[in-house]
Order: sequence, then structure tokens, then C-alpha cells
Amino acid sequence: MILELKEIKKDFKITKNDYFSALKGINLGFNKGEFVAILGPSGCGKSTLLNVIAGLDMPTSGELIIDNKSTKKYKEKDWDFYRKNNIGFVFQQFNLIEHLSALENVELVMTLTGQNKKARRQRAYSLLEQVGIDKDHAKHLPSELSGGQKQRVAIARTLANDPDIILADEPTGALDKKTGILVMELLKEIAGDKLIIMVTHNEKLANTYASRVVKILDGEIIADQVKQETSINEQQSSLRKKNKSMPFREAFKLSLRNMKKKMGRVLITAIAGSIGIAGISLVLGLSNGANIFIDEQIIKFGSSNVMQVSKTVKDEDGKLENVTKAKEFAFIKDNDEVVQVRKQLQTLGSWQIDSEALEVETSALAPSENQKYLEDFLIGELPQEGKNELIINKALARELMKIYNYDKDTTEYEAILNKKIELNLQSSGFPFKTKFKVVGIVDEIDVNQSFLYYNYDDMKDFYQESKIFNDSVYDLTMKNVANYEVIIKDPKELNNVKNWIYQEDGQETSQMSFSMGSFGGQAGISVVSFALIFQTALSTIINIAQLVMIAFLVISLIVSSILIAIVLFSSILERRTEIGILKAVGARKKDIMRVFQSEAILLGLFSGLLGIGVSFGLIPIAESAVNYFSEYNVSGIIQIPLTGELFNTGITIPLLPLIVLVLISTTVAFIAGYLPSRKATKMQVIDALRDE
Ligand code: ADP
Ligand code: MG
Repeated sequence: MILELKEIKKDFKITKNDYFSALKGINLGFNKGEFVAILGPSGCGKSTLLNVIAGLDMPTSGELIIDNKSTKKYKEKDWDFYRKNNIGFVFQQFNLIEHLSALENVELVMTLTGQNKKARRQRAYSLLEQVGIDKDHAKHLPSELSGGQKQRVAIARTLANDPDIILADEPTGALDKKTGILVMELLKEIAGDKLIIMVTHNEKLANTYASRVVKILDGEIIADQVKQETSINEQQSSLRKKNKSMPFREAFKLSLRNMKKKMGRVLITAIAGSIGIAGISLVLGLSNGANIFIDEQIIKFGSSNVMQVSKTVKDEDGKLENVTKAKEFAFIKDNDEVVQVRKQLQTLGSWQIDSEALEVETSALAPSENQKYLEDFLIGELPQEGKNELIINKALARELMKIYNYDKDTTEYEAILNKKIELNLQSSGFPFKTKFKVVGIVDEIDVNQSFLYYNYDDMKDFYQESKIFNDSVYDLTMKNVANYEVIIKDPKELNNVKNWIYQEDGQETSQMSFSMGSFGGQAGISVVSFALIFQTALSTIINIAQLVMIAFLVISLIVSSILIAIVLFSSILERRTEIGILKAVGARKKDIMRVFQSEAILLGLFSGLLGIGVSFGLIPIAESAVNYFSEYNVSGIIQIPLTGELFNTGITIPLLPLIVLVLISTTVAFIAGYLPSRKATKMQVIDALRDE
């Protein structure tokens, strides 16, 4: 015997202490090749018996023996295996999955056993043909088929995994008499060496088609009559071993089809879910764009790509001392790539001009940037080589005007142009007493310190001729550098160069060192750059704004994940039949889980993609709104980053930020889908199929 029921009892709890006895000790044995009809009036316990046989419902007491083995120690996966490989179901209400075509309904069972697509399709077509459904009708949805056709499809589905046992619960109950007879004939035809257990309350059908009729009344067997001896002897059915799980891609296909049916709801969920992602995308774009904007402003901002670097060390007595030897600046050595270090011929000292002592900062006009910068403010022209010319700034011009007794209030400092002045460096004992012609005035705004600049080549020659220093001009230059200027070729590198200097030349001492050159009493490196201060201040503001906005967006992500969870819960309720069928044909918890997790993942994916799309669409709208309502032109201020760096590896990957956003959305949805998916696996199959 392949199936044996021993003293099977089933009690249903009605109230707390009240039980209803649906099966009152059933003893039955079944062989292969039998076509058994279980006959009895409605409510006598036929379906309950069938569910126990299928392992869908556990008896209160008694024992079910399958293949001569007790099922007392069966675990869930053993029952799944048994259903998947040995049992086929036919239901009164057909229980076809509504959003799958007839063909796909048949194929579904086979996906659970991991057969490949081509084999599945072929087999599904031939099974449908066997039950009398042609290729044309195979593509129809269940709603487009008649009751009889639906039951044929259901029978074909049952045959798909070639089960040893077919359990049919009132298979003709929903059909008219004529169609019912056709279905009965079909069942008889496919029976062969299978065991068919069919529940019915139609005595005539039972007597006509079944080889054995078992009569039940109020949960007890009242008759068991063999009408026809089976030709097949007691044969052992060997349980098949393969037990593959449903591949994720099949689960995805199922979910996709289901979602197609529910386009409206999917869309609304995706829109709600996309808000957070769209927001994050826009905030990213805004901060990225703002940073680009700031960089551009800095580049426009004249010589703002210049950094002043100075260094203070502690001497032996622990006193702070300015470093005046450039060699102490490790950074100067070889950084031509990124920066150009301006070697200032700078000697802070008191000059005597026409016998009047003045505190003037002196600089040789190094070529390039320095000149270019000064030219912007220049009245007159640049000093030429070999002509003893120099240019001065406005502050010095005013000083000179005082010396020469010009009207105190006059602002026409151009009067100093072309004046010849005698320069004499007092302090260093510099043997330098030459008349220079003022050929230009630098009209910088708000510079109160006096400056004068000579021609660079003149100064080079001069230092060399002076023979005070035996070193080359370079060394001389370096020896006199108290600080140096770094011109960054690419202003975007400003911050990097700053860090680089700190790395090479010593620790950043404190916040202070980054401000106006004050060290706050500590030794260290001071790097001063207005551009950097500007940039840092603005970036800080942007970063704070970004954090605040992201906090809001995280909330919206949470809301959307709740929404996804709700949608999944209702989807599970709608797909109860599908879950029931999947379970009835042996789908394991894992398989069911996958079906709903894949739906969650798809929802997350759609939300993410939609969010990114929406954010790109919103850019021009947001910008023109700001442009319209404010006095600012913010065009181009939102630039969603299209490439991203992989952590800090320096490897940039196209579309990385967008990919990360979609991943976030998908992950959130996946997490949100966990509880609903678990609920689906916990759903009782018989509950799922009962109210059909
Ligand atoms: P049928 O012979 O019509 O298929 P069933 O096996 O479905 O009968 O049910 C047998 C009896 O057990 C009925 O009286 C039914 O109301 C009861 N019953 C079935 N399932 C449950 C349940 N889950 N809880 C309580 N009573 C149940
Ligand atoms: Mg029933």
C-alpha cells in the first residue's frame, strides 16, 4: 500500500473548551492504480480527510503511513517534498492563478522543480493537448476560459510533475452535468497506474467512474466497496530525490506579471517611494553643483588661487621664531606639477627714500601670475629690465606724497608717476643707492601696507653683482624667504595642496593657523588663503544644509518603506490562492518568500529609477522657479553627480551615485518586504484555498 491511514482523528476547536470532531478514527489503505471516490454529504469531513492525506493539515491523532513509512517524524521539508513530487491537486474551484495564462499555470508547477524553460514549455503544451486544450486556448487567461476548460487546465497542471497520487476535491462540483462527465472521463483516462482519490457527493458519478467507493458520514466510514479490481499489483512508489528550489529569476517573473496586472497600484507605490530618492538625488546635485559653483567663483576671483605659507618653530630657548630659511620648507622642493612656488625676493625692512625712512615691503616682480594679477590694478606700466624702474602701490604713493608735501587730501596719487626716487636699504647695510623711476601705481583696493616691486631680472642681476652673498640667486632668494606663496595651477586643488603642505611641513597647529597667520603661540605651519576660507565656510554651510535635508529624506524613505510593506500585505491577501497552490504543489517557505521578496525588490527598483528620473526632471523646474522669484540666477547650480569615486581609492565609476541611490531604494524595499513575505510563508494553505 502506498498510503495507509490508521485511526485518523481530526478535531477542530470551536470555542475555548469546545471541539468539533470532523474525523472520528478513519482507517483506510490505498494502492496504486485505484480510482477511489470518497462519497458523502456536505460537511461530513471529506475535504478534511483529503487535506490530511495531502499533508496540508495535521490530524489530531492517528497515523498516516506513506510508502510504508510512518510520517510521525516528518518535518516540514519532508511534507513539501512529498507534495511536490508525489501529490497532484484538483480543486472544485480550479484555483488557477488569474494573472497567468493557462500555459503559464501549468508551467508554474514545473518551475518549482527547476526544469528548464524550453522543456517546461514543451511539456506544458503537450499536457494541455492531452486534456483537450489547444495551443490557442493555452495562451488564454483563466477568466477567458469556460469552467470545463479551467478544470482541464487544472488537471494538466496536476499532471505536470507526474505525481503518483492525484487528490481531487469535488472536481465536477462547479461544472454542469455534461462538462462534469467529460472531466470524469478525462480523469479516468489519465489515471493509469496512479492513485486517484476523488471527493464527491454525486453518487452516480462515483459509481460510474470509480473503481472503489468509500462512503463517509459524520466523520466515520460507513461503507468501503471495491467495484473493480485493479490490474496493478501492490507496487511501491519510489520517492524521487531531486528537490531544487525555485530560481530567483522565476520568482521575479511571477512578480513582474502580477505587478503588470496591478499597474496603477505599483505606480502609486513607486511614486511615493520615489520621493525620498528624488530628494536625496536633488540634494546631492545641489551640493555638488554648489561646490562646482564656488570653485568657479574662486577661479574668477583673480589670484585667489594663491596661498601664503609661513612656518614658525621653537628655538632652543623655547621661543617662537619665524623660519627664514626656505630649506626648512620641505614643500618647496619639487612640486612643480600642481603648483608653482613663487620665490619671493622679499626683504622686509626699512628703506630710505630720498633720506626719509619708510617701512616698505619689497618684492621682485616674479613673472607670470604675480604680474598678471598686478596688471589688473595697474596705472602706468610694468618696470622694464635694465632701466631702474619700479612700481609702487597706492599706499606707498600716499606716503610719498606726504614726503613731497602734496596736498594732504588729494587722491590724485598719479602725481607720483614718473618721479625718480632714491632707494637705500638701511637695516641690512645693503650697498644700494640708486635712483629709480616710478613707472606704475598699483591701485589695489583696501591695501594699507606699502609695497614696491622691482623688475625681477634687475633684482637677480643686482643681487648677483652685490657680491654680498656668494650663493646663487636661487639660494640667496631662498635664504631670505620668510614665507612663500604657492600658486595653484588648478584652483580646484587648493584644498589638496593645503593638506599636502601640512603633511610635508608639519602639523596644522590649530584652527588659528588657518586664519590670518597667527599661530596662537604654537609652532607650526600657517597656510592662509582667502579662497580656502571662503570655500571652507561655504562648504560647511552646504554640508549642514545637506545633513538637515537628508534627515528629512530618511523620514520619507521610512514612510515609503511602510507603504511598500502595506502594498505587499495586500498583495499577499490577493495572492492567497497563488500561495495556496504553490504550497499545495510543494513550494517551500523559501520559494514563497522569494516570490514576495522579489516583488519588494522590484518595487524598490522602480521607486529608485523613478526617483532619479523625477529628480532630473525637477532640476530645470526648481531652477527656473528660483530664478523667477529671486534676484539670483542659479542656473546650473543643481548638478547631480554622474560619476563617483569608489570609496577613497581614486577609481571613478560612471553612474556610481545613481547606482548607489537605486541600491538604497531596493535595499529599503527589501527590508520593508521582510515581514509581509514571512507572513506569506506562514499562511495556512487550506485557509488560502478554502474560501474559494
Ligand atoms: P466536506 O465533507 O463538505 O468537505 P469538510 O471536511 O470541509 O466537509 O468539513 C467537515 C466539518 O468540519 C464541517 O462541519 C466543517 O464545518 C468543519 N470544519 C472544517 N474545517 C474547519 C475549521 N478549520 N474549523 C472548524 N470547523 C471546521
Ligand atoms: Mg469539501
